[in-house]
Amino acid sequence: METKEVKAYGTASAEESLSPMQIPRRTLLPEDVEIEILYCGICHTDLHVLRNDWGGAVYPIVPGHEIVGRVTAAGDQVTKFKVGDVTGVGCLVDSCRHCAYCQAGLEQFCEPGNTVVFGWPDKHLGGHTFGGFSERIIVDQNYVLRVPGGLDAAAAAPLLCAGITVYSPLRHWKAGAGSKVGVIGIGGLGHLAIKMASAMGAEVTVFTTSEAKADDARALGATEVFLSTDADRMPQSGKLDLIIDTVSAQHDINVYLHQLRVDGTLVLVGLPPEQLPMGAGNVVHGRKAVAGSNIGGIGETQEMLDFCAERGITADIETIAIQDVDQAFKRLEKGDVKYRFVVDMRTLQNH
Ligand code: NAP
Ligand code: ZN
Ligand code: ZN
Repeated sequence: METKEVKAYGTASAEESLSPMQIPRRTLLPEDVEIEILYCGICHTDLHVLRNDWGGAVYPIVPGHEIVGRVTAAGDQVTKFKVGDVTGVGCLVDSCRHCAYCQAGLEQFCEPGNTVVFGWPDKHLGGHTFGGFSERIIVDQNYVLRVPGGLDAAAAAPLLCAGITVYSPLRHWKAGAGSKVGVIGIGGLGHLAIKMASAMGAEVTVFTTSEAKADDARALGATEVFLSTDADRMPQSGKLDLIIDTVSAQHDINVYLHQLRVDGTLVLVGLPPEQLPMGAGNVVHGRKAVAGSNIGGIGETQEMLDFCAERGITADIETIAIQDVDQAFKRLEKGDVKYRFVVDMRTLQNH
């Protein structure tokens, strides 16, 4: 298949910093749209993969999976988008479309395996896929999202991963008026979980290791904020129905299981590379559950974007140039970002 070289930013190994490179993009298939990337968010998953925290990373890596861009060309069978539309692309760029999970709108669990936007086998070109730290991307229309007009394009980018990752479990476990939701960690995912859960009508309690973020948590919609490093001041009785755990590193989930009421569920969305030990008694007593959740399907991602447009929800962002991305990853590692870095991808042209 013919390819076109485009500018990108990536790394050839876990030890090197990110630098400019050229990557191939396929020529348009009938159902493909070509998207000029305007903004790309930086997720902690990008950092885990760049550092090969989970093993199995394939180099070179061009990260980025919170993409907002403008359609610049469309294949002749594209019906959903036209040139000029503002669109989004998240983690998923393809799946089998036939298995029970794809049919149910759960493409994130596609049985034969989906295609992730970077670091995944590329069905068309061989090799592996390259993500959003690039000039352009070619994606099948069925995996492209509509970004509603009311949303700021840069601040909407983090919705494509962080947003859907917290929206999906909030919906699945029925957060809403009358429910009490806990959020652990105020980072990219956590700050959106606070905004979304409170917009759904839930009462939100936040657990943070950063005292300096407490006031922000209240402004984002939390009614109570606890410093998890101060065990004496943590609540003594469990009253939460659902906890969304967004922590990216090793932590003690048993502390939070005590915050659940009977039949409550703690949902892990954070992906610490280490195992998380759990005391059996902490779930046996109170019939509690520990669960996990992985991004969301394409239909649900569109539903989330429409919900955010209706409620005026976007991420709180710091916009940076691609040349400052290494510094941004260093700050993300320390939890020093309020609350998502978004790269203005047009700065790639400065090379
Ligand atoms: P982030 O912006 O770095 O936020 C993580 C937050 O966790 C930090 O801001 C910090 O909040 C807290 N934290 C960090 N280290 C901690 C520690 N040692 N103990 C307790 N709390 C700690 O990261 P993110 O982009 O939101 O991503 C969070 C995690 O979700 C990552 O592991 C990422 O890979 C994963 N993820 C999963 C999915 C999925 O589909 N399941 C999708 C996207 C991301 P405080 O300062 O408030 O304590
Ligand atoms: Zn992500
Ligand atoms: Zn499938």
